[in-house]
Amino acid sequence: MSLYGAIEAGGTKFVCAVGTGPDDLRAEARFPTTTPLETLDRTISFFKEQQERLGEPLIALGVGSFGPVDPNPASPTFGFVTTTPKPGWANADVVGALRKVFPIPVGFDTDVNAAALGEHRWGAAQGLDTFIYLTIGTGLGGGGMVGGRLIHGLVHPEMGHIRIPHDWAADPFPGACPYHGDCFEGLAAGPALERRLQQRGETVPENHPVWALEAHYIALGLVNLILTLSPERLILGGGVMQQAHLFPLVRQEVLILLAGYVQAAEILNNCERYIVPPGLGGRSGVLGALALAQMVARE
Ligand code: ADP
Ligand code: ZN
Repeated sequence: MSLYGAIEAGGTKFVCAVGTGPDDLRAEARFPTTTPLETLDRTISFFKEQQERLGEPLIALGVGSFGPVDPNPASPTFGFVTTTPKPGWANADVVGALRKVFPIPVGFDTDVNAAALGEHRWGAAQGLDTFIYLTIGTGLGGGGMVGGRLIHGLVHPEMGHIRIPHDWAADPFPGACPYHGDCFEGLAAGPALERRLQQRGETVPENHPVWALEAHYIALGLVNLILTLSPERLILGGGVMQQAHLFPLVRQEVLILLAGYVQAAEILNNCERYIVPPGLGGRSGVLGALALAQMVARE
């Protein structure tokens, strides 16, 4: 039995799981993200208890973390959450804290790259080489693969902070990003919806005109990503995308914005398979962390 530990380290909650694979999870725990000390202590206690209960040591851990993070194994700050505005978490050494207690391989990446890996192994990106996983929730972030490898680069992509056109007459809301105001995240993530309407997205009815605006912003972001990376599929997750009626609106708007320029049947004739919800539903994050653990165990 090869037992792996998975950690979906979110800015609002941590989800931890132990198992041998996605169909064999032996335990799971979720708790709010408080201070790094308290949150990592709870994480460590959970895995210690599970090792004892199951009578087996973990062979590897995988962490998909909110960020920005340092995912470069050659860097002295590998496994850190780096410059986050989240109180207490700037320069938090997540992997270091885990390694002190568990002297095993620890895979570490952004939450969205982990989710992308999960979707690649078991979800909506199986068999693809180049694809994007985007979450539209409290923040807006993207990860994915190019040529079969998770995208890293200089640091890691920050697809949520790209600039998109903002028609101030149509939408006078200045944007909610603390760094950029009206970047993609600032215009289209959950907090932007909430501050624009003074109402949480969950409670906005399907026939409200804000959804056309939301779909327009999402489509603008997607078109930039399509033209930059030429993904074979775009997977859209996160709380805001629970509004399933957004999918047809986004697809329609993407086709209009591309204006027939990208001649690919996958987009033009089969857009409902090109822009899709996660195959793993809300489980991409934690299962992606499990996939990271499996990957690092094999290296
Ligand atoms: P997180 O990003 O914190 O992991 P979520 O992906 O659930 O969590 O995103 C939370 C954000 O998404 C909040 O801003 C919330 O208002 C919004 N949200 C959650 N569910 C819905 C929904 N069904 N419709 C619209 N917005 C939603
Ligand atoms: Zn921004």
